[in-house]
Amino acid sequence: MKFAIIGGGATSVSLVDALDRRGLTQEIDLAVYEPEKEIGRGNAYRVDAGSALLNRQAEFMSIRWNEPRHFLGWLEKHPDPEVRAYAHPGTFPPRYLFGDYTSESFARLRDSWGDHGRSIEVFHDTAVSMTRGHEGRGIGITTASGTTHTYDGAALCVGTAEPVDCYGLAGNPRYTNDPYPLWVTVETVDPDDHVAVLGTSLTAVDIVMALLDRGHRGPITMVSRRGLLPGVRQQHRDTTSAVLTETAVRRAADAPEGLTLAAVLELMRAELAAHGIDPGILDGEADPGEEPAARLARHLDLAERAELWQPLLITAANDLIELVWSLWSDTERATYLRDYHHIFQSLCNPMPLRTAQRLLAAAGAGQLRMLGGIVDVRTQGEAFDLVCRDETFRADAVINSAKRETAPSPAAATALCASLVNAGLGQYDDFGGLTVSTADNRLVTAGPAAPSPVFALGQLSAGSLYYTSSLAMIARRVELVADRIAEAVALTKQQ
Ligand SMILES: Cc1cc2nc3c(=O)[nH]c(=O)nc-3n(C[C@H](O)[C@H](O)[C@H](O)COP(=O)(O)OP(=O)(O)OC[C@H]3O[C@@H](n4cnc5c(N)ncnc54)[C@H](O)[C@@H]3O)c2cc1C
Repeated sequence: MKFAIIGGGATSVSLVDALDRRGLTQEIDLAVYEPEKEIGRGNAYRVDAGSALLNRQAEFMSIRWNEPRHFLGWLEKHPDPEVRAYAHPGTFPPRYLFGDYTSESFARLRDSWGDHGRSIEVFHDTAVSMTRGHEGRGIGITTASGTTHTYDGAALCVGTAEPVDCYGLAGNPRYTNDPYPLWVTVETVDPDDHVAVLGTSLTAVDIVMALLDRGHRGPITMVSRRGLLPGVRQQHRDTTSAVLTETAVRRAADAPEGLTLAAVLELMRAELAAHGIDPGILDGEADPGEEPAARLARHLDLAERAELWQPLLITAANDLIELVWSLWSDTERATYLRDYHHIFQSLCNPMPLRTAQRLLAAAGAGQLRMLGGIVDVRTQGEAFDLVCRDETFRADAVINSAKRETAPSPAAATALCASLVNAGLGQYDDFGGLTVSTADNRLVTAGPAAPSPVFALGQLSAGSLYYTSSLAMIARRVELVADRIAEAVALTKQQ
């Protein structure tokens, strides 16, 4: 069997590892398409500033769904004592270290394939088109440099979309549209510049931390439409849902009106109440009037006091959001995306506690401001005027991190997705990316065409699965895809 993986980030390595663990090294020739030099890093774990930390504790970051401490084990065996210092539960190592782990894992896997007489061929190229193969069997993949190869199947692991230039600032030398790599971006600003950071997500936090780490002296203003920063991650605690369970969600979905957003919120409130937590805490999160710095301080306080509400929310999100999303009607999904998606992202992808402390210290010292209500950004000679609901301020440089709320494909995969949709190998999803089967991430085709031999993992599948951004969620889905590939191999051997 010949199988192609498009994209060479952490998802790709996780999939190769899952195939290896199923003993398929002797059965499949793999090809990985990735324009970047190293396989395993992708966009998230590239070589970059040490201030860019993982947003989950080391013991939960792993390419293996059923072995969450795999990365921790790698840290423990590392020859460098400075790296080994992270080899404890509760640490947040720099992301580039995780990239070292994924790229080393890939090298090990490639050797393992070679040892078994099979190969993992790497094409440092962008896949630009995918078509059905001869007589509708398999697929053909063509790259930007014009080579075409055929395979029995493929997995799209093309990652996340890049930031969007919402205000048409591209081309201005003092504007950076994509902040990564951070160590290059921070060098483009003078240490005394007033820097405006567009966005208040984890990427915006990355930018501010990199500026502070480099010794930035000038003012920094983070500004977005809502001014909603990520929450603050507290120490991990195992929790079990008592009320918001799969059974309860399915029962609520049996109502004549189907599963509603209100019913899910009610279950979440009841879950909090069952643990003695005031359910009103959820209403506070939806209050648009709370100042960003005050919200950050409140979240830091909750995290320092290890309030149980966050573990409860995150457990519910990890365990049930896919099911809930699949049961909601399009109307409920659209309402949720409009009113709650940003709150979910903020609460379920929190920043490390020490990062929050550092941001608040910079805010307290008057260097950092966090603002909502951005309306426009205009160039003023060499500077920028940032027009917000309540004020307009001037900045010397603008660094962007703003993204669209639903999940389009990254630019490098736009042509590829269009071609495979044209070839009847998949279809666009109304909620972003490509539609996948919730059972196994196989692309869903329009009409009665044969089942697609193509799978999508990560953000490209978010229209169907919603929460696909963390590696743990991806690694869980990787197992399903690897099972299907193993079944296809077994079937081929029988024939
Ligand atoms: C900055 C950042 C930080 C993050 N931090 C964390 C974290 O701490 N913890 C966590 O759990 N999750 C984190 N995430 C979420 C992250 O998306 C997942 O953890 C995971 O790394 C996604 O891996 P991926 O391989 O799907 O995507 P990516 O890392 O984006 O890799 C996709 C790769 O596909 C390649 N590609 C795209 N199109 C094509 C094409 N047409 N042909 C060939 N190659 C192509 C790209 O060059 C890229 O290398 C972070 C995400 C980002 C962006």
